[in-house]
Amino acid sequence: MSDFVLVVNSGSSSVKFAVIDAHSSSEILTGLAECLGSDEPRMVWQHNDADDQESEQVLAAGSQHKVAIEQIVKIINENNLTSDLRVIGHRVVHGGEHFTSSVVINDEVKQAIKFNNKLAPLHNPANLEGIEAAQHYFPNLMQVAVFDTAFHQTLPETSYLYALPYSLYELEGIRRYGFHGTSHRYVSEQAAVFLEKPQSEINIITAHLGNGCSICAIKQGESVDTSMGFTPLAGICMGTRSGDVDPGLFSFLIKELAYDVDEIDMLLNKKSGLLGISQFSNDCRALEKAKQAGNIKAALALDIFCYQIAKTIASYTVPLGTIDAIVFTGGIGENSAFIRAHIIDQLKFFSLELSEQENMNKRFGTSGCITTNKGIKVLVIPTNEELVIAKDALVLLNQYSSEQGVS
Ligand code: AMP
Repeated sequence: MSDFVLVVNSGSSSVKFAVIDAHSSSEILTGLAECLGSDEPRMVWQHNDADDQESEQVLAAGSQHKVAIEQIVKIINENNLTSDLRVIGHRVVHGGEHFTSSVVINDEVKQAIKFNNKLAPLHNPANLEGIEAAQHYFPNLMQVAVFDTAFHQTLPETSYLYALPYSLYELEGIRRYGFHGTSHRYVSEQAAVFLEKPQSEINIITAHLGNGCSICAIKQGESVDTSMGFTPLAGICMGTRSGDVDPGLFSFLIKELAYDVDEIDMLLNKKSGLLGISQFSNDCRALEKAKQAGNIKAALALDIFCYQIAKTIASYTVPLGTIDAIVFTGGIGENSAFIRAHIIDQLKFFSLELSEQENMNKRFGTSGCITTNKGIKVLVIPTNEELVIAKDALVLLNQYSSEQGVS
Protein backbone atom coordinates (compact mmCIF):
# COMPACT_ATOMS: atom_id res chain seq x y z
CA MET A 1 0.00 0.00 0.00
CA SER A 2 1.23 3.54 -0.77
CA ASP A 3 2.03 6.05 1.98
CA PHE A 4 0.86 9.13 0.04
CA VAL A 5 -0.22 12.13 2.09
CA LEU A 6 -1.84 15.32 0.85
CA VAL A 7 -0.28 18.26 2.70
CA VAL A 8 -2.32 21.47 2.74
CA ASN A 9 -0.96 24.84 3.88
CA SER A 10 -3.73 27.44 3.64
CA GLY A 11 -2.67 31.07 3.95
CA SER A 12 -4.94 34.10 4.02
CA SER A 13 -5.00 34.33 0.21
CA SER A 14 -3.22 31.15 -0.85
CA VAL A 15 -3.24 27.36 -0.59
CA LYS A 16 0.09 25.58 -0.93
CA PHE A 17 -0.24 21.85 -1.42
CA ALA A 18 1.84 18.75 -1.99
CA VAL A 19 1.30 15.03 -2.38
CA ILE A 20 4.17 13.44 -0.52
CA ASP A 21 5.25 9.83 -0.28
CA ALA A 22 5.91 9.88 3.46
CA HIS A 23 7.75 6.56 3.21
CA SER A 24 10.38 7.59 0.67
CA SER A 25 10.16 11.32 1.62
CA SER A 26 9.64 12.25 -2.05
CA GLU A 27 7.32 14.93 -3.37
CA ILE A 28 5.01 13.50 -6.04
CA LEU A 29 2.98 16.60 -6.81
CA THR A 30 3.41 20.18 -5.63
CA GLY A 31 1.36 23.29 -6.27
CA LEU A 32 0.12 26.66 -5.18
CA ALA A 33 -3.18 28.51 -5.50
CA GLU A 34 -2.57 32.20 -4.97
CA CYS A 35 -4.27 35.59 -5.03
CA LEU A 36 -7.46 33.92 -3.71
CA GLY A 37 -10.33 36.37 -3.27
CA SER A 38 -8.79 38.75 -5.83
CA ASP A 39 -9.78 39.44 -9.44
CA GLU A 40 -7.15 37.07 -10.77
CA PRO A 41 -6.68 33.99 -8.60
CA ARG A 42 -4.49 31.35 -10.22
CA MET A 43 -3.07 27.96 -9.63
CA VAL A 44 0.28 26.44 -10.61
CA TRP A 45 1.33 22.84 -10.07
CA GLN A 46 3.91 20.33 -11.10
CA HIS A 47 3.91 16.52 -11.20
CA ASN A 48 7.46 15.65 -10.29
CA ASP A 49 7.36 12.13 -11.72
CA ALA A 50 6.19 13.35 -15.11
CA ASP A 51 7.96 15.77 -17.42
CA ASP A 52 8.64 18.38 -14.75
CA GLN A 53 6.55 20.92 -16.70
CA GLU A 54 4.69 23.42 -14.57
CA SER A 55 0.97 23.67 -15.32
CA GLU A 56 -1.05 26.79 -14.72
CA GLN A 57 -4.72 27.65 -14.53
CA VAL A 58 -6.58 30.87 -13.93
CA LEU A 59 -9.42 30.51 -11.41
CA ALA A 60 -12.71 32.42 -11.52
CA ALA A 61 -12.46 35.95 -10.07
CA GLY A 62 -13.10 35.99 -6.32
CA SER A 63 -12.43 32.23 -5.91
CA GLN A 64 -11.72 31.32 -2.29
CA HIS A 65 -10.16 28.34 -0.50
CA LYS A 66 -13.04 25.97 -1.27
CA VAL A 67 -12.60 26.50 -5.02
CA ALA A 68 -8.84 26.01 -4.66
CA ILE A 69 -9.34 22.70 -2.84
CA GLU A 70 -11.93 21.64 -5.45
CA GLN A 71 -9.28 22.32 -8.09
CA ILE A 72 -6.65 20.41 -6.12
CA VAL A 73 -9.06 17.43 -6.04
CA LYS A 74 -9.33 17.61 -9.85
CA ILE A 75 -5.55 17.79 -10.29
CA ILE A 76 -5.01 14.83 -7.97
CA ASN A 77 -7.66 12.90 -9.93
CA GLU A 78 -6.15 13.77 -13.31
CA ASN A 79 -2.79 12.52 -12.07
CA ASN A 80 -4.37 9.24 -10.90
CA LEU A 81 -3.30 9.80 -7.31
CA THR A 82 -6.69 9.77 -5.57
CA SER A 83 -6.72 6.09 -4.66
CA ASP A 84 -3.15 6.34 -3.32
CA LEU A 85 -3.97 9.09 -0.79
CA ARG A 86 -4.18 7.78 2.75
CA VAL A 87 -4.46 10.87 4.93
CA ILE A 88 -4.46 14.69 4.75
CA GLY A 89 -2.11 16.83 6.88
CA HIS A 90 -2.85 20.53 7.47
CA ARG A 91 -0.45 23.19 8.67
CA VAL A 92 -2.14 25.23 11.40
CA VAL A 93 -0.29 28.31 12.59
CA HIS A 94 -1.60 28.78 16.13
CA GLY A 95 -2.48 26.00 18.53
CA GLY A 96 -2.26 28.27 21.59
CA GLU A 97 -1.79 26.20 24.74
CA HIS A 98 -4.23 23.56 23.51
CA PHE A 99 -1.83 21.53 21.40
CA THR A 100 1.59 20.16 22.28
CA SER A 101 1.74 17.85 19.26
CA SER A 102 -0.06 17.03 16.03
CA VAL A 103 -3.64 15.74 16.35
CA VAL A 104 -6.41 14.05 14.37
CA ILE A 105 -8.96 16.72 13.47
CA ASN A 106 -12.44 16.37 14.98
CA ASP A 107 -15.08 18.93 15.97
CA GLU A 108 -13.37 19.64 19.29
CA VAL A 109 -10.04 20.34 17.54
CA LYS A 110 -11.77 22.66 15.07
CA GLN A 111 -13.36 24.54 17.99
CA ALA A 112 -9.93 24.94 19.62
CA ILE A 113 -8.42 26.24 16.35
CA LYS A 114 -11.30 28.72 16.14
CA PHE A 115 -10.72 29.72 19.77
CA ASN A 116 -7.16 30.64 18.81
CA ASN A 117 -8.33 32.85 15.88
CA LYS A 118 -7.77 35.95 17.99
CA LEU A 119 -4.09 34.97 18.43
CA ALA A 120 -3.54 34.51 14.66
CA PRO A 121 -6.33 36.43 12.91
CA LEU A 122 -4.73 36.23 9.46
CA HIS A 123 -3.80 32.56 9.60
CA ASN A 124 -6.08 30.39 11.74
CA PRO A 125 -9.36 31.27 9.94
CA ALA A 126 -7.66 30.44 6.62
CA ASN A 127 -6.29 27.19 8.03
CA LEU A 128 -9.78 26.26 9.17
CA GLU A 129 -11.27 27.06 5.77
CA GLY A 130 -8.74 24.71 4.18
CA ILE A 131 -9.62 21.98 6.68
CA GLU A 132 -13.35 22.32 6.09
CA ALA A 133 -12.97 22.33 2.32
CA ALA A 134 -10.74 19.23 2.48
CA GLN A 135 -13.26 17.50 4.76
CA HIS A 136 -15.96 18.31 2.21
CA TYR A 137 -14.07 16.92 -0.78
CA PHE A 138 -12.32 14.02 0.97
CA PRO A 139 -14.99 12.89 3.47
CA ASN A 140 -13.43 9.44 3.85
CA LEU A 141 -9.88 10.55 4.61
CA MET A 142 -8.53 11.27 8.09
CA GLN A 143 -7.41 14.89 8.51
CA VAL A 144 -4.54 15.82 10.80
CA ALA A 145 -3.47 19.24 12.14
CA VAL A 146 0.23 20.09 12.62
CA PHE A 147 0.78 23.30 14.61
CA ASP A 148 3.61 25.84 14.22
CA THR A 149 3.41 26.54 17.95
CA ALA A 150 3.30 22.95 19.27
CA PHE A 151 7.07 22.37 19.41
CA HIS A 152 7.50 25.40 21.70
CA GLN A 153 4.96 24.22 24.28
CA THR A 154 7.92 22.83 26.27
CA LEU A 155 9.18 26.38 27.01
CA PRO A 156 9.52 26.92 30.76
CA GLU A 157 7.55 29.74 32.39
CA THR A 158 10.74 31.78 32.74
CA SER A 159 11.01 32.05 28.96
CA TYR A 160 7.34 32.14 27.96
CA LEU A 161 6.01 34.67 30.48
CA TYR A 162 6.32 38.39 29.88
CA ALA A 163 6.82 40.59 32.92
CA LEU A 164 3.27 41.91 32.64
CA PRO A 165 0.48 41.51 35.19
CA TYR A 166 0.04 37.73 35.53
CA SER A 167 -3.71 38.07 34.95
CA LEU A 168 -3.07 39.01 31.31
CA TYR A 169 -1.55 35.57 30.85
CA GLU A 170 -4.23 33.77 32.86
CA LEU A 171 -7.22 35.53 31.37
CA GLU A 172 -6.08 36.47 27.87
CA GLY A 173 -3.30 33.98 27.07
CA ILE A 174 -0.73 36.75 26.56
CA ARG A 175 2.66 34.98 26.58
CA ARG A 176 5.45 33.91 24.25
CA TYR A 177 4.22 31.12 21.93
CA GLY A 178 6.99 30.95 19.35
CA PHE A 179 6.57 29.96 15.70
CA HIS A 180 8.37 28.01 12.93
CA GLY A 181 8.11 25.07 15.38
CA THR A 182 7.80 22.46 12.63
CA SER A 183 10.99 23.72 11.00
CA HIS A 184 12.99 23.95 14.26
CA ARG A 185 11.84 20.45 15.17
CA TYR A 186 12.77 18.99 11.77
CA VAL A 187 16.25 20.48 11.51
CA SER A 188 17.08 19.66 15.13
CA GLU A 189 16.11 16.03 14.51
CA GLN A 190 18.27 16.01 11.39
CA ALA A 191 21.15 17.58 13.34
CA ALA A 192 20.99 14.72 15.85
CA VAL A 193 21.21 12.25 12.97
CA PHE A 194 24.23 14.16 11.62
CA LEU A 195 25.93 14.22 15.03
CA GLU A 196 25.10 10.50 15.49
CA LYS A 197 23.74 11.15 18.97
CA PRO A 198 20.28 10.79 20.47
CA GLN A 199 18.50 14.11 20.84
CA SER A 200 18.31 13.52 24.59
CA GLU A 201 22.11 13.93 24.74
CA ILE A 202 22.56 17.15 22.77
CA ASN A 203 21.81 20.87 22.90
CA ILE A 204 21.25 22.73 19.65
CA ILE A 205 20.53 26.27 18.49
CA THR A 206 18.52 26.42 15.28
CA ALA A 207 18.35 29.60 13.17
CA HIS A 208 15.46 29.65 10.70
CA LEU A 209 16.35 32.59 8.46
CA GLY A 210 13.93 33.31 5.63
CA ASN A 211 11.50 36.15 5.04
CA GLY A 212 10.43 35.39 8.59
CA CYS A 213 13.27 34.62 11.00
CA SER A 214 13.39 32.90 14.36
CA ILE A 215 16.00 31.28 16.54
CA CYS A 216 15.39 28.44 18.94
CA ALA A 217 17.30 26.95 21.88
CA ILE A 218 16.71 23.19 21.98
CA LYS A 219 17.81 21.35 25.09
CA GLN A 220 17.86 17.57 24.85
CA GLY A 221 15.25 17.64 22.08
CA GLU A 222 12.94 20.21 23.71
CA SER A 223 12.47 23.87 22.81
CA VAL A 224 13.44 25.92 25.88
CA ASP A 225 13.54 29.41 24.36
CA THR A 226 12.77 31.03 21.03
CA SER A 227 12.97 34.51 19.59
CA MET A 228 9.44 34.95 18.22
CA GLY A 229 6.87 35.68 20.87
CA PHE A 230 3.16 36.34 21.28
CA THR A 231 3.20 37.04 17.55
CA PRO A 232 5.67 36.28 14.73
CA LEU A 233 6.76 39.93 14.83
CA ALA A 234 9.10 39.51 17.80
CA GLY A 235 12.80 38.69 17.99
CA ILE A 236 15.42 39.41 15.35
CA CYS A 237 14.77 41.78 12.46
CA MET A 238 13.37 40.10 9.33
CA GLY A 239 12.65 40.90 5.68
CA THR A 240 9.98 43.51 6.42
CA ARG A 241 9.32 42.91 10.15
CA SER A 242 11.05 45.02 12.80
CA GLY A 243 11.63 42.28 15.37
CA ASP A 244 12.04 43.55 18.94
CA VAL A 245 11.64 47.27 19.54
CA ASP A 246 11.22 49.24 22.76
CA PRO A 247 7.55 48.87 23.82
CA GLY A 248 7.68 52.56 24.75
CA LEU A 249 7.81 53.27 21.03
CA PHE A 250 4.07 52.62 20.61
CA SER A 251 2.89 55.50 22.81
CA PHE A 252 5.49 57.79 21.24
CA LEU A 253 4.24 56.93 17.75
CA ILE A 254 0.64 57.52 18.82
CA LYS A 255 1.11 60.63 20.94
CA GLU A 256 3.90 62.42 19.14
CA LEU A 257 3.57 61.23 15.55
CA ALA A 258 -0.21 60.66 15.38
CA TYR A 259 0.02 57.06 14.19
CA ASP A 260 -3.11 54.90 14.55
CA VAL A 261 -3.09 51.18 15.34
CA ASP A 262 -3.26 50.05 11.71
CA GLU A 263 -0.41 52.37 10.75
CA ILE A 264 1.75 50.98 13.56
CA ASP A 265 0.88 47.44 12.47
CA MET A 266 1.85 48.28 8.89
CA LEU A 267 5.06 50.04 9.98
CA LEU A 268 6.30 47.14 12.10
CA ASN A 269 5.14 44.26 9.89
CA LYS A 270 5.61 45.54 6.36
CA LYS A 271 7.92 48.55 6.29
CA SER A 272 10.67 47.64 8.75
CA GLY A 273 13.42 45.02 8.97
CA LEU A 274 15.88 44.72 6.08
CA LEU A 275 13.55 46.75 3.89
CA GLY A 276 13.17 49.53 6.44
CA ILE A 277 16.89 49.99 7.05
CA SER A 278 18.04 49.58 3.46
CA GLN A 279 15.10 51.62 2.06
CA PHE A 280 15.56 49.42 -0.92
CA SER A 281 14.66 45.73 -0.58
CA ASN A 282 13.68 42.94 1.83
CA ASP A 283 15.41 40.36 -0.36
CA CYS A 284 18.73 39.18 1.02
CA ARG A 285 20.13 38.39 -2.44
CA ALA A 286 19.40 41.88 -3.70
CA LEU A 287 20.93 43.42 -0.57
CA GLU A 288 24.11 41.37 -0.87
CA LYS A 289 24.50 42.52 -4.49
CA ALA A 290 23.84 46.14 -3.54
CA LYS A 291 26.36 45.96 -0.70
CA GLN A 292 28.99 44.68 -3.11
CA ALA A 293 28.19 47.60 -5.37
CA GLY A 294 28.82 50.00 -2.47
CA ASN A 295 25.30 50.66 -1.20
CA ILE A 296 25.88 51.76 2.42
CA LYS A 297 22.31 51.28 3.66
CA ALA A 298 22.15 47.76 2.22
CA ALA A 299 25.40 46.96 4.04
CA LEU A 300 24.04 48.45 7.26
CA ALA A 301 20.82 46.42 7.03
CA LEU A 302 22.82 43.20 6.63
CA ASP A 303 25.15 44.18 9.50
CA ILE A 304 22.21 44.79 11.85
CA PHE A 305 20.59 41.52 10.77
CA CYS A 306 23.75 39.47 11.44
CA TYR A 307 24.53 41.27 14.71
CA GLN A 308 21.06 40.57 16.10
CA ILE A 309 21.27 36.92 15.10
CA ALA A 310 24.75 36.47 16.63
CA LYS A 311 23.62 38.21 19.83
CA THR A 312 20.54 35.99 20.14
CA ILE A 313 22.55 32.82 19.48
CA ALA A 314 25.08 33.83 22.14
CA SER A 315 22.29 34.57 24.65
CA TYR A 316 21.05 30.99 24.34
CA THR A 317 24.12 29.77 26.21
CA VAL A 318 22.07 30.78 29.28
CA PRO A 319 19.25 28.22 28.90
CA LEU A 320 21.47 25.60 27.24
CA GLY A 321 24.71 25.68 29.25
CA THR A 322 26.60 23.74 26.61
CA ILE A 323 26.04 23.74 22.85
CA ASP A 324 26.69 20.87 20.43
CA ALA A 325 25.62 22.53 17.20
CA ILE A 326 24.25 25.67 15.59
CA VAL A 327 22.02 24.96 12.60
CA PHE A 328 21.22 27.33 9.74
CA THR A 329 18.04 26.81 7.72
CA GLY A 330 15.41 28.77 5.72
CA GLY A 331 16.02 30.58 2.41
CA ILE A 332 18.83 32.75 3.81
CA GLY A 333 20.26 30.19 6.24
CA GLU A 334 20.41 27.50 3.56
CA ASN A 335 21.80 29.65 0.77
CA SER A 336 23.73 32.67 1.93
CA ALA A 337 27.39 31.86 2.60
CA PHE A 338 27.93 35.58 3.22
CA ILE A 339 25.36 35.87 6.03
CA ARG A 340 26.55 32.65 7.71
CA ALA A 341 30.18 33.80 7.62
CA HIS A 342 29.27 37.23 8.98
CA ILE A 343 27.34 35.70 11.91
CA ILE A 344 30.05 33.14 12.72
CA ASP A 345 32.67 35.88 12.64
CA GLN A 346 30.87 37.64 15.50
CA LEU A 347 30.63 34.54 17.69
CA LYS A 348 34.32 34.71 18.65
CA PHE A 349 33.63 33.44 22.17
CA PHE A 350 32.63 30.06 20.64
CA SER A 351 36.02 29.63 18.87
CA LEU A 352 34.37 28.57 15.62
CA GLU A 353 36.61 28.01 12.60
CA LEU A 354 34.72 28.46 9.35
CA SER A 355 35.72 26.41 6.30
CA GLU A 356 35.25 28.87 3.44
CA GLN A 357 35.13 26.02 0.97
CA GLU A 358 32.45 24.09 2.88
CA ASN A 359 30.49 27.30 3.45
CA MET A 360 30.36 27.79 -0.33
CA ASN A 361 29.61 24.11 -0.94
CA LYS A 362 26.69 23.94 1.49
CA ARG A 363 24.14 25.89 -0.50
CA PHE A 364 21.11 25.28 -2.70
CA GLY A 365 19.81 22.20 -0.92
CA THR A 366 23.10 20.70 0.25
CA SER A 367 23.48 19.93 3.94
CA GLY A 368 26.50 19.41 6.19
CA CYS A 369 29.05 20.99 8.49
CA ILE A 370 30.77 24.27 7.58
CA THR A 371 33.24 24.52 10.47
CA THR A 372 36.47 22.63 11.18
CA ASN A 373 36.96 23.26 14.92
CA LYS A 374 36.38 20.70 17.65
CA GLY A 375 33.34 21.24 19.90
CA ILE A 376 30.43 23.25 18.53
CA LYS A 377 29.62 22.33 14.95
CA VAL A 378 27.88 24.72 12.58
CA LEU A 379 25.51 22.85 10.28
CA VAL A 380 23.46 23.81 7.24
CA ILE A 381 20.27 21.74 7.00
CA PRO A 382 17.51 22.52 4.47
CA THR A 383 14.15 22.55 6.23
CA ASN A 384 11.20 20.45 5.08
CA GLU A 385 8.03 21.37 6.93
CA GLU A 386 5.83 19.55 4.40
CA LEU A 387 7.62 16.28 5.10
CA VAL A 388 7.11 16.67 8.87
CA ILE A 389 3.39 17.27 8.29
CA ALA A 390 3.16 14.22 6.01
CA LYS A 391 5.01 11.98 8.48
CA ASP A 392 3.00 13.15 11.49
CA ALA A 393 -0.24 12.57 9.57
CA LEU A 394 0.80 9.05 8.63
CA VAL A 395 1.91 8.19 12.17
CA LEU A 396 -1.48 9.29 13.53
CA LEU A 397 -3.31 7.35 10.82
CA ASN A 398 -1.32 4.18 11.53
CA GLN A 399 -1.86 4.62 15.26
CA TYR A 400 -5.60 4.96 14.71
CA SER A 401 -5.70 1.97 12.35
CA SER A 402 -3.83 -0.28 14.79
CA GLU A 403 -6.12 0.83 17.65
CA GLN A 404 -9.11 -0.06 15.46
CA GLY A 405 -7.48 -3.35 14.43
CA VAL A 406 -7.46 -2.28 10.76
CA SER A 407 -4.50 -3.56 8.75
P1 AMP B 1 12.21 31.85 2.61
O1 AMP B 1 11.20 32.74 3.28
O2 AMP B 1 12.67 30.74 3.51
O3 AMP B 1 11.77 31.37 1.27
O4 AMP B 1 13.51 32.76 2.35
C1 AMP B 1 13.46 33.90 1.53
C2 AMP B 1 14.77 34.67 1.71
O5 AMP B 1 15.87 33.82 1.32
C3 AMP B 1 14.86 35.91 0.84
O6 AMP B 1 15.41 36.99 1.60
C4 AMP B 1 15.88 35.52 -0.23
O7 AMP B 1 16.61 36.62 -0.70
C5 AMP B 1 16.78 34.59 0.58
N1 AMP B 1 17.62 33.78 -0.33
C6 AMP B 1 17.24 32.79 -1.16
N2 AMP B 1 18.31 32.36 -1.87
C7 AMP B 1 19.38 33.09 -1.47
C8 AMP B 1 20.77 33.13 -1.83
N3 AMP B 1 21.27 32.33 -2.76
N4 AMP B 1 21.57 34.03 -1.21
C9 AMP B 1 21.07 34.86 -0.27
N5 AMP B 1 19.77 34.86 0.12
C10 AMP B 1 18.93 33.99 -0.48
